[in-house]
Amino acid sequence: MPGDIDRDAFAFAYRMVTPVWLFDIDSSRIRFANESACRMWQAASEAELGIRDLSVGMSSTVRKRLKQYQTDFEDGATFNEIWTIYPNGTPVSAKVNFSGFRLSNDRFALLCEASTPSASTPENLRSTEALLHTDVMISLFRRDGPPLYMNPAARNAAMNADLGFADLFVDTQDHDLMMFELDRKGEHRLVAKVYTEQGLRWHNLSAKSCADSATGEPAILVTANDVSELKNARDRARYLAHRDQLTGCFNRSHLQKCVSELSRYHAGTCALLFFDIDRFKMINDRYGHETGDQILKKLATRAQAGLAKSDTLVRLGGDEFVILYRDVEDREVLVGKVEHLLEQMSEPFQANSIRLTPTVSMGLAFFEPGADSLTNAMSEADIALYASKVGGRNRLTVFNETLGAAAKERDQIEVDLKAAIERDEFVLHYQPRIDINSQRILAVEALVRWQHPTRGLLSPGVFIPICEETGLIEQIGQIILKRGLNQAQAWFEQGIDIGVSINISPLQLEDPNLIATLENFARRPGFAAQRIELEVTENVLIGDLAKMAQRLRDIAALGYRIAIDDFGVGYSNLSYISDFPVDCIKIDRSFIGKLPEAGPVIRLILALARQIGACTVAEGVETAEQANWLLAQACDQAQGFLFHPPMPVDDLMAAVSTD
Ligand code: C2E
Ligand code: MG
Ligand code: MG
Repeated sequence: MPGDIDRDAFAFAYRMVTPVWLFDIDSSRIRFANESACRMWQAASEAELGIRDLSVGMSSTVRKRLKQYQTDFEDGATFNEIWTIYPNGTPVSAKVNFSGFRLSNDRFALLCEASTPSASTPENLRSTEALLHTDVMISLFRRDGPPLYMNPAARNAAMNADLGFADLFVDTQDHDLMMFELDRKGEHRLVAKVYTEQGLRWHNLSAKSCADSATGEPAILVTANDVSELKNARDRARYLAHRDQLTGCFNRSHLQKCVSELSRYHAGTCALLFFDIDRFKMINDRYGHETGDQILKKLATRAQAGLAKSDTLVRLGGDEFVILYRDVEDREVLVGKVEHLLEQMSEPFQANSIRLTPTVSMGLAFFEPGADSLTNAMSEADIALYASKVGGRNRLTVFNETLGAAAKERDQIEVDLKAAIERDEFVLHYQPRIDINSQRILAVEALVRWQHPTRGLLSPGVFIPICEETGLIEQIGQIILKRGLNQAQAWFEQGIDIGVSINISPLQLEDPNLIATLENFARRPGFAAQRIELEVTENVLIGDLAKMAQRLRDIAALGYRIAIDDFGVGYSNLSYISDFPVDCIKIDRSFIGKLPEAGPVIRLILALARQIGACTVAEGVETAEQANWLLAQACDQAQGFLFHPPMPVDDLMAAVSTD
């Protein structure tokens, strides 16, 4: 036995008739026991008792409580509790007085003295046991003061065994409410943040007014459970329900919550800013989603940094964000602030070793909080954002009535377009393409027009972009394609040797019906697919290049020719052009219009076309100078008002016959 006990000090204890023993908490061993204690522990000798490891089978509550005693003893505390011990598995209950015994090496051991085993009934013994071992914290407080009783779990949690009921509460309002309800109905339950030995925790407290059974004094019986984990999990779930996982900013459902609160709490002018990342799909396709995610996070952080406390940033989904500005005092000041944000957004940064300079387009709308004002503001901010996109991106547009009227007209066109499909109001005009050398008509481009019932003949610029946005292009594109191909076949059958080119939107390329229709025609007897050219804009060279290249190869495999339309103005990735089956490049008319300044660029395009073996067509040739310049540069073909405008079939036939 280590020499940290002066056994002589226990000489008197050997003569005592009540069981006395010394329990070393750290080693879970009994270090001394008198005869009576050996009997109580059913041990043959003190030595035999001394080798028993009492930690075996000890409940965690008891273990914690024993540790707690060590600290309490330093303050000179003594306790008595009814304990049940299990020597050789048989329960023996006794009332035990505990006090601290300082060992010579300054550690505290537990000096225990059992009084006559309690005469309690088995029920009493069991309930006492239950109180000792349960994790539920049970305390009896004097109504106006310190605790009268605490079970081990409660003592384990208490910061200080003398603190009163009121001292538990972090928020005094919780205590006030509890006391108010106890006075009113004698009991109350609430979840409150409390001070504990383990720090601030959430307890589910159930309190009842009662009288202390020993003194009859007014008291409060409190049962408490630690619900911190549950509460934190719930708070986290609530937090997540309103947060966007990727960027950490609020999500759409939070915006809805703000909306319902707005009209109640905010009287002042508010503003909504919509913004999204320019060509985000292209960035994602080109650099991968991980880089896309990093851009989203970066821009969200930048937007968040400039916010005032009353502003809310929300990610609606994808690359769409909203900022809600509350109580705007000066509209001009806010517009200035947003313009500054726009500039900050486009500052370059590094992601996955790629230097990125993403830009955003923004739409801002002011509104006065009211019944459905936010719904209106959402659509107005959206209209303004759309205007920023159409206006060239990387800019802010503030909503105004003119924009509103234009958006209404767009909506009307969308409605009318659906009727136009039903009533078959689309007609094709054909614009000849001539050989620059011989000036002979080689082919025609089919250009759609809409014979609108009230607005007359509408040009494609008015409605094709709307068809593309709404997805109607697939349906209308099919109508145009079939009409163009049928016309071509009719000409082949009549022996008119003329090529036909038809415009195909990037979206149509994704439509499986396109290939089906092309295949169908290609199989028809007498149909010369090699006389048909499909014009796709350079924008198909953006995005999922591998997929687009495959589509175009499928089309080429059926015998059709592929032309890249409006070449030079898009954002295509030229390094991929050789992967595409390109038969013809149509130089955008903006370059021809800018001759002679644009001469070097046109020469570059002509050289590129020659490199990949594609024929060249100059679009929008309006003057003889332009035509001569193109002839000198050996451009193959030209299309433009100088030669022929787009015209209905009958006029075209007249032009062809005089050609
Ligand atoms: P695009 O395919 O580049 O068609 C050429 C456009 O240039 C036509 O305008 C034509 O009228 C115009 N143009 C031709 N020569 C000249 C000229 O000398 N000077 C000027 N300033 N313009 C000239 P249009 O018919 O208004 O078509 C505009 C665009 O609409 C087309 O540009 C094409 O991108 C699209 N589009 C037309 N028809 C269809 C169609 O059937 N399907 C699809 N998806 N898009 C179409
Ligand atoms: Mg075209
Ligand atoms: Mg064009």
